Amino acid sequence: MEKGSLLYTGKAKNVYTTDQTGILWVEYTNQATALNGKRKEQITNKGQLNSAISDLLFKYLTQQGIVNHYVEQISPVVQLVKQVTILPIEVVVRNYAAGHFVTKYNAPEMKHLVPSVHEFYFKDDALDDPFMNDEQIMALDIATEAELVTMRSEANRVNKLLSDIFKKIGITLIDFKLEFGYTAEQQLILADELSPDNMRLIDDVTGDSLDKDVFRKNLGDVTVGYQIVLDRLQKLFTEK
Ligand code: 5GP
Repeated sequence: MEKGSLLYTGKAKNVYTTDQTGILWVEYTNQATALNGKRKEQITNKGQLNSAISDLLFKYLTQQGIVNHYVEQISPVVQLVKQVTILPIEVVVRNYAAGHFVTKYNAPEMKHLVPSVHEFYFKDDALDDPFMNDEQIMALDIATEAELVTMRSEANRVNKLLSDIFKKIGITLIDFKLEFGYTAEQQLILADELSPDNMRLIDDVTGDSLDKDVFRKNLGDVTVGYQIVLDRLQKLFTEK
């Protein structure tokens, strides 16, 4: 597989074409951003940790029947994925109150949310990714009702699978963000990455954050928590 030209530079990943039609080359970088890209830092090893965690979680979801863009990891920071056209919507699922759910609604921190809360955000940096309800999304032709139904139900399935797997390794999945895209065959599938950069994870024993909140809140070295997540997932999947 040959790396082609740069297609897209993201906040923590660079995406290239390859010599194979329909397959993209994704390089995880060490960049960490907060405040929608306004704060940026390089964090040694972060790309490698996120790539390894995302590799394990996508393989697990694939085994469990969640159709997604993931193909394989070909080096510590490089993954191959199926090319999809990303829908400009971020799907956030919340099991416990944290982050913007606390600051926006004055919800008690870590309140167990029953039912789990689903939110859609319009992916637009200039607008700071605003929240949108179903009607706003449909009326502005950003997504159809059928697409919203698919994304909600897939997000529910992913939430159940990931919550269960993290529970087994002593971690609570607080919330996470997913993205979806269309394949050339017009199938809407799960895409992007699955890492502590886009989910909140709390250690059940220590209560420590094992995710990007450590960077957002300046609490120290984020990679300590990411390494714990990776070590526990690796142990779980090798024991199986
Ligand atoms: P919040 O809305 O509380 O900031 O975030 C909710 C969850 O979605 C968190 O797990 C957060 O990491 C994830 N999330 C929300 N927006 C983004 C985003 O633009 N990029 C990334 N990487 N994660 C996001």
